Amino acid sequence: MSNEILNLNLIEIAHLISTGEITSLQATQITLDAIEKHNPNINAYLSVFNEQAIEQAKKVDAKIASKQTIGPLAGVPIAVKDNMCTAFGTTTCASKILENFHSPYNATVIEKLLAADAVIVGKTNLDEFAMGSSTENSGFAQTKNPWDTQRVPGGSSGGSAAAVAARMCYAALGSDTGGSIRQPASFCGIVGLKPTYGRVSRYGLVAYGSSLDQIGPMTRTVGDAALMMNVIAGHDERDSTSVNADLAPVADYKADLCGQIKNLKIGIVTKFNEGATPDVCGAIKDAIAVYKSMGAEIIEIDMPHFDYSIATYYIVATAEASSNLARYDGVHYGYRNKDADELVAMYSKSRAEGFGQEVKRRIMLGTYVLSSGYYDAYYLKALKVRNLIRSDYTNAFEKCDCIMMPVAPSTAFKFGEKTADPLQMYLSDIYTIAANLAGVPGISIPCGYDSQNLPIGLQIFTPAFTEHKMLKIAAMYEKNTNFPKLPEMK
Ligand code: GLN
Repeated sequence: MSNEILNLNLIEIAHLISTGEITSLQATQITLDAIEKHNPNINAYLSVFNEQAIEQAKKVDAKIASKQTIGPLAGVPIAVKDNMCTAFGTTTCASKILENFHSPYNATVIEKLLAADAVIVGKTNLDEFAMGSSTENSGFAQTKNPWDTQRVPGGSSGGSAAAVAARMCYAALGSDTGGSIRQPASFCGIVGLKPTYGRVSRYGLVAYGSSLDQIGPMTRTVGDAALMMNVIAGHDERDSTSVNADLAPVADYKADLCGQIKNLKIGIVTKFNEGATPDVCGAIKDAIAVYKSMGAEIIEIDMPHFDYSIATYYIVATAEASSNLARYDGVHYGYRNKDADELVAMYSKSRAEGFGQEVKRRIMLGTYVLSSGYYDAYYLKALKVRNLIRSDYTNAFEKCDCIMMPVAPSTAFKFGEKTADPLQMYLSDIYTIAANLAGVPGISIPCGYDSQNLPIGLQIFTPAFTEHKMLKIAAMYEKNTNFPKLPEMK
């Protein structure tokens, strides 16, 4: 019985709770039990709010019993990545420097989840400050991929992806600066959506690359992602980069899912779709054939600047990170070295001891590209290339409704396989990073399994602020195939 409940998707469980067929307390208790059973092995969560979750579940049940109006996520256990501020528990960003940090406020997305009557069960593991592609850079724990525990779950939202796949929650929030929602979603066989830059408020998301970061849903189905978008999308006056509703109204993403798009034009770059491992290439080809069978037309497009996206990203993102992470000085936030006998030594010891290796590497890279003499050669040049990458998308969307390509060049890799060579790790984001530079939305949906039964993801992009269309295109595929499947949990 409890497995049947855990296997339900978000829309299904929300429906059963709202109609009183099961209580939120039951669903929450079953989820907390699953966390207790699987988290010691999978390490998806850094913190779990047992008592608070039970209390919230009871509150929602009381609301339902007394026929009060309830929110769309009423009583459903949800997880959030531990780089989103919560006024309860800690917000660590998986960094020693924030190990004991208690945020005085909730991020806007947290407020929105609570307003939708969700039960927040815990906060999930990530690469320190969201810098990484495997969650191996976490300062606290190694999250395992529920499909094969010898392998990484992807990153940086690896904890959220593993929690959703392993049925330790019904949906989770992740953040995506260069692929951190889509790539772990692909590695764990779930759906991950990076919204358009400006669609979801970043208020209370601990900043990594402020011009790239977006929060988005990680779920088991496309419909569930749409429901989550209904809850989190929209303008927020506390985030000046969130777009005004007059300019880009928020759609009812869930209601928009029905029906098919006739004469869908899909843009592909053959070179990209043939650049991944043979199993990934095969699955992408098959997925595109499914669309063809639904009447879609495939159009070859050109994205001439795409190849520069990794280089551009590692200048822009590190520049922004070096500035954003300057605030961790042992005074304003978090860890402080207590032995230093003067101020500068205290700053430098606190940072040296508090930050992990990859974070230090990025701060140094970012400081370098912003320093006088190098600013024009690197940072300014990168901004120009960023514009060209953006125009690749704009030009492509004149010819097609959406673009399809793999999410990642391979399926989940083994622990330690890429840690010795940062460039190899960076290259695992080759297909995802350009969307952040351009600001366009992207979704990862399960589209097959490799010879070792590891999930493969198909990536779909549509123009800025057309998440409703992107979700609809993704739903067309999901309805016509039997994905997603879930890993067996023993
Ligand atoms: N893997 C990329 C990085 O290391 C992207 C991470 C992310 O999207 N947060 O920066």
